[in-house]
Amino acid sequence: MNTDKKGINTTCTHTGELEDTQFKGAVSPLYMSTSYAFEDVDIKRYPRYFNTPNQEALCKKLAALEHAKAALIFGSGMAAISTGLMAFLQAGDHIVLQQTLYGGTYNFAVTQFEKYGISYSFTNGWEVDDFEREIRPNTKVIYIETPSNPLLTITDLEGIGQLAKKHGIVSMIDNTFASPINQNPIDYGIDVVLHSATKYMGGHSDICAGVIAASQEHMDKIFQTAICFGGSLSDYTVWLLERSIKTMGIRVNAQNANAMKMAAYLSASKDVENVYYPGLETHPGHALAKSQMKGFGGMLSFELNSEIDASLFFKHLKLIKPSMSLAGIESTVLSPMQTSHALMSPEDRKKQGIKDSLIRFSLGIEEMEDLVRDIEQAISKVKSMAMPV
Ligand SMILES: *Cc1c(COP(=O)(O)O)cnc(C)c1O
Repeated sequence: MNTDKKGINTTCTHTGELEDTQFKGAVSPLYMSTSYAFEDVDIKRYPRYFNTPNQEALCKKLAALEHAKAALIFGSGMAAISTGLMAFLQAGDHIVLQQTLYGGTYNFAVTQFEKYGISYSFTNGWEVDDFEREIRPNTKVIYIETPSNPLLTITDLEGIGQLAKKHGIVSMIDNTFASPINQNPIDYGIDVVLHSATKYMGGHSDICAGVIAASQEHMDKIFQTAICFGGSLSDYTVWLLERSIKTMGIRVNAQNANAMKMAAYLSASKDVENVYYPGLETHPGHALAKSQMKGFGGMLSFELNSEIDASLFFKHLKLIKPSMSLAGIESTVLSPMQTSHALMSPEDRKKQGIKDSLIRFSLGIEEMEDLVRDIEQAISKVKSMAMPV
């Protein structure tokens, strides 16, 4: 439950701030110590215990943002995801994973679980029934990602939360694509929320970090695993992340607005075949997204017409950068076939609906007219090259 009644931008800016009592500076002071006195103090502080002053302060902000009781910050999204998973799984256990997952999470599942004697199943769809079908007597975790990468499919948060409770299973979500600005899964009954803070929380493509937010009971369990795996974040980066999150609300809302406009523009373009964006009424998950999200997010994907070569299109873009990552204030595009889903066989990609011509688009905060102009000039260059001479 959200006990923090403040507005979202006030929470982003102020919650958890440290006070500079010495100099009355405007921002949280940065404490870089890795060594703290243990006599006459009730907290034994140490960076890998996730409890330095800056770590604790930022965790308060993150918990408030996800309507959680507590949160922890990690050195990367994968540190948070691997720690979160291993906190609830042991030899003999089983986990149900959504079929389209972030590549690193998929890789973790297929290369690590077996070593620990953990079995796993991927669903054959995104419906609650598809998850229920995979549940076994030893299933301990259900793991989802919504909106998903790269087709922005939507999974029913409330349905999954109820299903997990019915079977006494922990539900976990990777909430990276939505960010806490657009989606708060705990309000819909999901137990554990994970983030790659490298994306919207950092927002400027210069911070690598991860987050877990959950109830106190779940976080206590995660903490015990976290101190063993040791994936905490250095205080300097913690401090930078605190600064970035202050503008997360205004950044993400600008990116939402750009994505909505871009989805409409691309849908109307004769050079574009398909557009995948949950904000479009034609998207199969639109109604569900509308019921569980506050904004539809800054990510979309689309396919150019078959006569326009996607890699040539990338080459001619001047403003929009072809880039591996996402969620920065600069607009970027990526070809899942060439990058995130390159290791998958063409048949498997096809099964998941990922065409070779698919382009994933992460909207930044630039003016829409500039983005459209860039796309139009790139398309017309590709077309003029394709013309016989
Ligand atoms: C980037 C990403 C991750 C992994 O985060 P890192 O910070 O790169 O470790 C996990 N999930 C999603 C959805 C991502 O986009």
